[in-house]
Amino acid sequence: MNAPATPELPVAVIGAGPSGLAAAAHLLDQGIEPLVLEAGPAAGAAVREWAHVRLFSTWGEVVDPAAEKLLAPTGWTRPDPATYPSGGDWAEQYLQPLADALGDRVRLGTTVTGVSRTGRDRIVDADREQQPFVVHLTHADGREERIFARSVIDASGTWATPGPAGGSGLAALGEHAASDRITYRVPNLKNPATRARYAGRRTAVIGSGASAFTALAYLADLAKSKDGTGTKGVWILRRGISGSTFGGGEADQLPARGALGLAAKAAVDEGHADAVTGFRTEAVERDTDGRLTLVGEDGRRLDAVDELIVLTGFRPDLSFVNELRLDLDERLQAPSELAPLIDPNQHSCGTVYPHGHRELSHPEPGVYLVGMKSYGRAPTFLAMTGYEQVRSVAAAIAGDLASADRVELTLPETGVCGGAGLFDTSDTREPDSEGCCAPTPPLVQLGTPTTVGATAEKAPASGCCSS
Ligand SMILES: Cc1cc2nc3c(=O)[nH]c(=O)nc-3n(C[C@H](O)[C@H](O)[C@H](O)COP(=O)(O)OP(=O)(O)OC[C@H]3O[C@@H](n4cnc5c(N)ncnc54)[C@H](O)[C@@H]3O)c2cc1C
Repeated sequence: MNAPATPELPVAVIGAGPSGLAAAAHLLDQGIEPLVLEAGPAAGAAVREWAHVRLFSTWGEVVDPAAEKLLAPTGWTRPDPATYPSGGDWAEQYLQPLADALGDRVRLGTTVTGVSRTGRDRIVDADREQQPFVVHLTHADGREERIFARSVIDASGTWATPGPAGGSGLAALGEHAASDRITYRVPNLKNPATRARYAGRRTAVIGSGASAFTALAYLADLAKSKDGTGTKGVWILRRGISGSTFGGGEADQLPARGALGLAAKAAVDEGHADAVTGFRTEAVERDTDGRLTLVGEDGRRLDAVDELIVLTGFRPDLSFVNELRLDLDERLQAPSELAPLIDPNQHSCGTVYPHGHRELSHPEPGVYLVGMKSYGRAPTFLAMTGYEQVRSVAAAIAGDLASADRVELTLPETGVCGGAGLFDTSDTREPDSEGCCAPTPPLVQLGTPTTVGATAEKAPASGCCSS
């Protein structure tokens, strides 16, 4: 028998990360019961996996206002808003207490495996919107269950589905077979076993975002330490190197985010990493001694490395929401209305305009992808975006459209414009008049000249501000 689609049903929130827990706090603030379903064994399970990485956001930027309101009566004290937490601090000092305050509204060890309309698969129209959502769960002990919900907020992030090494977006030939020497995360070099894995070794880092900067800076620190003599990074970039390659530096409105790029630049300038530009990985070949040789689509073969760190971004897992009628952008796999606001082909400056429930709505009413997942493959997500999204979505679910429509958050710019797009092309666009885009930054010559590819000579396209 189907459960009725009544307001008594909870709103199912998938994921007890920063966005999911904030969603629950906002729903409670609206007088709506949330049920948070978390696959991991603790709140903030994804954040805990990068516990060793320091955020470039301050505490003041990663605590949600409704969550703080919920925490206040528990005696929780807000950490100094001007200081920078690590992922571990964020999980222990904020996400865990927040989950505790939500009590049994958070179910841990509970993986959502499917969401649909009760009794209606994707193609059935009849009375569709009158049916509650049905959510299939698998518990840590293998038990299966289904629950019903009046609305579904998918805040499951993208952490579990990192991008591959292959330049075409597919795993490179040989990538799976070389998995014992590949990681898709920023390694924790404070862990002795992990440190020993990279110390004195030659490691390729593929990627051009904040995580790649962090990994390069970590390897450089290791190279400078007593136990790390001989450690060397090889930085693999799809594009040429320009002034924007390292992020906005001092122009970044988040100084710690800008500093990550400067640390990566220092790693290259000081000779701890060589940059290989214009390189799209086609194959990962294993030598007889077990080392890996990267082969580019242009036929270039790089000197063998001991380890490979792939930091090419993340993708949303859409498999468990496949029975829902979602409207997703064909490039980013983000909600279609949101995608133009965050498309890195166009918004290389990282500016994101205020958005809320309207941009996050789908043809299937009552379903919202929020948080990191709402950005699909776009790399510029910030927790504060997620907090504003879920405030708006919770108000919309409560029927308070005036509040839901009042989205005001304008995010800090990265300070990078015109060069942080995705590809070197001959297409050049004019900067806009909003002041977000500077002229195309000049190319910068770095590292050992022999390792800098031909594309470094060519100016990259201005990829921003066309909308
Ligand atoms: C190394 C690193 C550094 C970062 N630094 C910053 C920073 O300084 N500032 C900033 O604003 N942002 C930063 N980010 C981005 C950051 O990830 C987000 O701001 C934040 O973690 C996103 O929160 P979320 O709740 O949307 O997703 P997540 O944190 O990924 O949480 C998703 C949760 O959903 C759970 N889940 C996944 N699938 C399922 C399922 N099927 N069923 C049930 N549960 C599921 C996961 O276990 C996880 O707990 C950083 C990211 C990384 C990787």
